Amino acid sequence: MKRRDFIQGLGAGTALAGLGGVKVANAAPQFKWKMITTWPKNFPGLGTGANNLAKLIQAMSGGRIEIKVYGAKEIVGAMEVFDAVSRGVAEMGHGAAYYWKGKSEAAQFFAAVPFGLNAQEMNGWLYHGGGMKLWEELYADFNLIPAAAGNTGVQMGGWFNKEIKTLDDLRGLKMRIPGLGGEVLKRAGGTPVSLSGGEIYTSLQSGAIDATEWVGPYNDLAFGLYKVAKFYYYPGWHEPGTTLEAIINKKAYDTLPKDLQMIVTNACKVVNQDMLAEYTARNNDALHSLVKKHKVNLRPFPDTVLKKLAKLSDEVVAEIAQKDKASNKVYKSFVKFRDQARAWHDISEVAYFRARSL
Ligand code: CA
Repeated sequence: MKRRDFIQGLGAGTALAGLGGVKVANAAPQFKWKMITTWPKNFPGLGTGANNLAKLIQAMSGGRIEIKVYGAKEIVGAMEVFDAVSRGVAEMGHGAAYYWKGKSEAAQFFAAVPFGLNAQEMNGWLYHGGGMKLWEELYADFNLIPAAAGNTGVQMGGWFNKEIKTLDDLRGLKMRIPGLGGEVLKRAGGTPVSLSGGEIYTSLQSGAIDATEWVGPYNDLAFGLYKVAKFYYYPGWHEPGTTLEAIINKKAYDTLPKDLQMIVTNACKVVNQDMLAEYTARNNDALHSLVKKHKVNLRPFPDTVLKKLAKLSDEVVAEIAQKDKASNKVYKSFVKFRDQARAWHDISEVAYFRARSL
């Protein structure tokens, strides 16, 4: 396939859907890269998004960059991806910035913040609201270049075996919920538990945990969580539009000619949008199947519970700003953008969704 034909193919809207079948031009690769990921290999949505990114970079570069993707534990463990790419063990990584809060608390703002930005707003902040520059500054200290490279959209609140009517119902609740959301649950009197994806089903089945969040209908259906929990709560206040990231070793990036640098950066942008589109389509289908076929009990968190969780979240997030100078700078930019986005979205997206539901 000629490069020109491929570009025309992209223009015709066949970009990623047809990528699996795209024949890359036969140029010998000038750069052979490894991409290590925090996901189980080929994990639907997240792992396959990383695969798409590698394929896209390879195809757009006419085969000049070849990228082999590795799942968690194939080269390094999921939680070692950041360090490994920083050290140059691999040229690229794919994961989520909130995994690196041990490196910098501020990293969490670039993945998900409870009651923070949704996917559309995250992209607005990152690409046109100053967020990307702050992210690049933060990662420069680690010899890394960050890029947004995927988004799950708003997640679900999670699977519970009892109804949540007041904040007191969260007291003593053992729930698998990572990150800042977990800290908020702790302040509400619950016990956050950290479990990898593979451990969730059996832990809920055995009663080792009372509740869990995971992602949304698409991934939750695949895990069969409806078989071991009574209620499926919404919305995912703790992950309103989780951004996935690509990280690129700076030295490796600097060795690329300008056109290939542009290809890497813009391929991330394509995948960032495409993953959100995929989650939107697949969540629709999966929710239908959960409700119609598996008779799942959907429940909204009561407003009174959400209001209290929002207050606790604000406290938790504001505390990050006190940790160090970089976190303070990112916090201020994030909160300013969120407040402005809220004013605009209240009369645009929110008002429209309300109108459509009348
Ligand atoms: Ca989640």
